[in-house]
Amino acid sequence: MKKVGLILLVAAMLMTATLSGCGSKPAPTAGGDGNKTEENAPAKPTVGVAIYKFDDTFMTGVRNNISKAAGDTATLDIVDSQNSQPTQNDKVDLFITKKYNSMAINPVDRTAAGVIIEKAQKANIPVVFFNREPLPEDMKKWDKVYYVGAKAEESGTIQGQLIVDYWKAHPEADKNKDGKLQYAMIKGEPGHQDAELRTQYSIQAVKDAGIEVEKLAEDTGMWDRVKGQEKMAAFLASHGDKIEAVFANNDDMALGAIEALKAAGYFKDNKYMPVVGVDATAPGIQALQDGTMLGTVLNDAKNQGIATFKIAYVLAKGETPSKDNIGFDITDGKYVWVPYVKITKDNISDAQQ
Ligand code: BGC
Ligand code: CA
Repeated sequence: MKKVGLILLVAAMLMTATLSGCGSKPAPTAGGDGNKTEENAPAKPTVGVAIYKFDDTFMTGVRNNISKAAGDTATLDIVDSQNSQPTQNDKVDLFITKKYNSMAINPVDRTAAGVIIEKAQKANIPVVFFNREPLPEDMKKWDKVYYVGAKAEESGTIQGQLIVDYWKAHPEADKNKDGKLQYAMIKGEPGHQDAELRTQYSIQAVKDAGIEVEKLAEDTGMWDRVKGQEKMAAFLASHGDKIEAVFANNDDMALGAIEALKAAGYFKDNKYMPVVGVDATAPGIQALQDGTMLGTVLNDAKNQGIATFKIAYVLAKGETPSKDNIGFDITDGKYVWVPYVKITKDNISDAQQ
């Protein structure tokens, strides 16, 4: 009995040795051999990430959330395009030379996405754009192209509603008692979908509420706090107390405007100006708490970062993104839209990420 068992065991061992000795080599990803070392562990997907410029408050939030979402599941190469499209194009060329598995691109100039898509397709490296929406005709150029962002119209509408709520609750807001809202607009970068559509839809929402408007001033602050301050100082110099509300396309410019208003004596001795922004950045929320900013709109850096990474990761592994593997709905096979949220002093906790 014992002898038979031993023979069987030896036979089994011989067979195993023969089997593993022939046939094709196991793929590097085939695990389960119990003595895997770092060297033969499956390679992590590599993702090249280009940000339009690191020195942008909101994009810093998105960038940090992309890194956080990646953890140690992928190798990220995150680069600063320094607000220059030629610099970004060079970075993309490098990603391609390095044969990264996918790319996540926040374009400097969204109309440059077409060229990036052509290069990516040639190299067969899928790409997800985020925050700066490529033109629809470019998005259609290849099926391995995605976009993560937020509906700019929605943020504009919410800004308008914030001003409408204030106007209705505060009859004294109509300083010159002419029944019209005299306003100033500080725009983001011209051509950016968020700048154009927030400008348009915020005012549309005020009009839709039956309030007549009169634009006293409009200029671009290029998303920048210091420029926002300079523009507001200039508006005050030419229109002074005639301005009854200030719309800024983002929080940084709203905060700059608040600085200029403070310098002109606002936010003390009953002198007030309703100022609205977008993003709900940490300094923006601080201003809500201080009572200097009336309201803002959460631009969800956390979920935009997570969705961007998830798509890039799934694509890098050669898979097709779907709700199941990224956790977000995909519209028209290409778009992930992260909702905006109205934020005032009363629901600050909804904005804390
Ligand atoms: C944000 C801005 C930011 C811009 C960068 C917008 O969605 O609201 O704060 O500067 O994106 O592209
Ligand atoms: Ca008025």
